[in-house]
Amino acid sequence: MLPAENQAQVQNRSPQRPYNPLVKQQQPVKPATQVVETAKEAVNIPVMEASSVFNVQRLQDRIADITLPSKGILYQDKMPNGIMKIRAMTVKDKKLIAGFRGDGTSLIEMLISRMSVECKVLPEDMLLQDRVFILLQLRAHSYGDRLAFKMTCPSCKNEFDKEISISKDFDIKYLPEDTCEPYDLELSNGIKFALKFLRAKDEKDIINYAGSKKAKTENGDPAYTYRILKHIDSINGIKVSQGNQIEALKLIESLEVADEKELDKAILAKDFGTDFAIELQCPACPRQFKGEIPWIEDFFRNL
Ligand SMILES: [Zn+2]
Repeated sequence: MLPAENQAQVQNRSPQRPYNPLVKQQQPVKPATQVVETAKEAVNIPVMEASSVFNVQRLQDRIADITLPSKGILYQDKMPNGIMKIRAMTVKDKKLIAGFRGDGTSLIEMLISRMSVECKVLPEDMLLQDRVFILLQLRAHSYGDRLAFKMTCPSCKNEFDKEISISKDFDIKYLPEDTCEPYDLELSNGIKFALKFLRAKDEKDIINYAGSKKAKTENGDPAYTYRILKHIDSINGIKVSQGNQIEALKLIESLEVADEKELDKAILAKDFGTDFAIELQCPACPRQFKGEIPWIEDFFRNL
């Protein structure tokens, strides 16, 4: 298994911005099998009576409709118009988070599966961009719209407090209606690729691969080429599968960096989702700068 900081590096490399706020705080233990079970049962969380002894009925779930950046376009008909229902977190959810022993990705899956209502798309099948958005919305719906964090001025190094509204201050780029998957790219060298978007399960595969025995025998950083591989559906019309994966990795490694740049560019051109860049004004000096809204520590923990 990778140390937590390596996991963060693996994520940072993705051109598709798979932010994973909880990974940094969690030592990966092993892929949690409980997640799959939770995801299956989470299609609809049964309404429980809070306490018959104390004569307290379960309060009505506070449900919000959110529209995912993908607009549901790549989920077949499982999420029409990308509208998803989420409920607010309960103390039990917090308790589960506090005691969770899996890695950060599994924790996010558990959270999403528990707090989505009547959702037909499993958390592992969700696009990374949607997942980031859902986490932000879960946070806003449960704890409020205000997000406070600290920023540092690049000129005078002054650290200052900044507050934003989750619903108003993030720019969301929606996936265009005519988006198809896979989408084609022919490199200048003639190789034809069909490319795809990354799902939560791809990110998990990348982290697992980077921590696997096989990867440890490789030179360099195994996650680097494996992440590129996860974007590829087929090469010259031949589907990339478990059986030809090693060949595909070899081919990726043999590409010239200029070819890789073409690949990167094509993937980035399709990017969508939540924009974390924000214009800031240092309160202590005249410097205006563009910063990235950080994932705060304890995003869902001690708030
Ligand atoms: Zn300053």
